[in-house]
Amino acid sequence: MSAPSHEIIIIGSGPAGLTAAIYSARADLAPLVVEGEPSSTSDQPGGQLMLTTDVENYPGFPDGIMGPQLMADMRAQAERFGAEILSRKVSRVDLSDRPFGVWIGDPEAPTPTYTAEALIISTGAQSVMLGLEAEQRLIGHGLSTCATCDGFFFRDQEIAVVGGGDSAIQEATFLTKFANKVTVIHRRDELRASKIMQQRAFDNPRIEFAWNTTVDEILGDTKVSGLRLRDTIDDGLRELPVTGVFISIGHRPNTALFAGQLDMDDNDYLITGPDRSTTNVEGVFACGDVQDHNYRQAVTAAASGCMAAIDAERWLESGSG
Ligand code: NDP
Repeated sequence: MSAPSHEIIIIGSGPAGLTAAIYSARADLAPLVVEGEPSSTSDQPGGQLMLTTDVENYPGFPDGIMGPQLMADMRAQAERFGAEILSRKVSRVDLSDRPFGVWIGDPEAPTPTYTAEALIISTGAQSVMLGLEAEQRLIGHGLSTCATCDGFFFRDQEIAVVGGGDSAIQEATFLTKFANKVTVIHRRDELRASKIMQQRAFDNPRIEFAWNTTVDEILGDTKVSGLRLRDTIDDGLRELPVTGVFISIGHRPNTALFAGQLDMDDNDYLITGPDRSTTNVEGVFACGDVQDHNYRQAVTAAASGCMAAIDAERWLESGSG
């Protein structure tokens, strides 16, 4: 028996994947969206917005909208136009030949679960977290992984940023527009960030540094109220009262499925063509954070999902698929 065939399969269901679904469903391509499965990590259906509370910078919502509600609305909008949504995870893809093979469940099964003429990959990226239990409880409640998204909520407050790379220093500098004081917590006595960004932070009177320091615990039951910090030299503990903490210790794109099949950069992000969603495999398109380590916004992910759907539709129409 041959595997059910689709013109387009979309892997991933954050703003990029669901926007691609809306556009390709409205183009009568009846896409199948494999949205992932609920789990405690950030690669769950709906992507990173499922882990946020208020979203105030997505255009069209003057009073803001909750992240999970925005994703539920995008999902409903895609379904309204005929997108089929499957709450499973893709376990393997075969991009060596067309139609492409997509496996759900046993990756060793001899035949794929589905085949597709075109694939849109929107598997997103995850913020690397510290691994503390409190992170699951407090994310969106004083704990954030995105200063651009959430900095505004910390006006006149004292907050912390964890990390010592360019992202952490850029976020700390940005956050001083709002916060009275930003303490950068770094596990060594030297930053990894570029010298120019370091200097900008050293010169900023609102930024303080906690060197040779790790976060032992994030305090607060329903809202961040402080951090318990550990000195890595003498193992001493101290508390830092803050109302917000930004974890900025790196991002990891969800690209393991595509290793050896799609071109990736040094940090494992998929490489797409200039101003295009094309990958090195004809008929495979990528959008959203899985190919963007620069902007990482819901609205830019949604926009690139639109581009991928249009690129895929035109490619199918051209008779290449
Ligand atoms: P990086 O990997 O460069 O830095 C991660 C930082 O987090 C390091 O300082 C690291 O410490 C620290 N860290 C990692 N794991 C832990 C942990 N478990 N506990 C505590 N601290 C930890 O990631 P970035 O996201 O900062 O940057 C990614 C890439 O993007 C880089 O190439 C960067 O240059 C680039 N970028 C460029 C920007 C720009 O030019 N405007 C802005 C943002 C990013 P340690 O140093 O000890 O390893």
